[in-house]
Amino acid sequence: MAEFKCYECDGNVRTGEKFTFTKKGPVHFDCFLSSKRKEISDEQKENLRVLSLLLDSELDHLLNILSIQNTSEELKEQIRLKYKDIEKAVGETTRLIYELS
Ligand SMILES: [Zn+2]
Repeated sequence: MAEFKCYECDGNVRTGEKFTFTKKGPVHFDCFLSSKRKEISDEQKENLRVLSLLLDSELDHLLNILSIQNTSEELKEQIRLKYKDIEKAVGETTRLIYELS
C-alpha cells in the first residue's frame, strides 16, 4: 500500500492503521474525529458519536477484508467487489462526518 501523510498530524499513515479520505486528503481516523469534535456545535456531538461508531466498524470491516490472504481465484473477484462496497460505505460516512458543522 502506498504511503500517505495525514493532513492533521502530518504523520505517515501506515498499513493496517485506520484512515480515510476527505476533500482535504488522507487523514487518520482518530485525527479526523478529534479535529471534527472541536469544530462542531454541541447539538451535533451526538450525531458525530453515532457516525464515528459506524465509520469505525466500516473501517474494521475494510481492514479485515484487506487481511484475507491466499484467496482462491474464484473468490478473488468476489472479495474485490466486497472491498469496493465497503470502501464506498466508508466514503459516504466520511462525507457525512465531514459535513457536520
Ligand atoms: Zn493523523
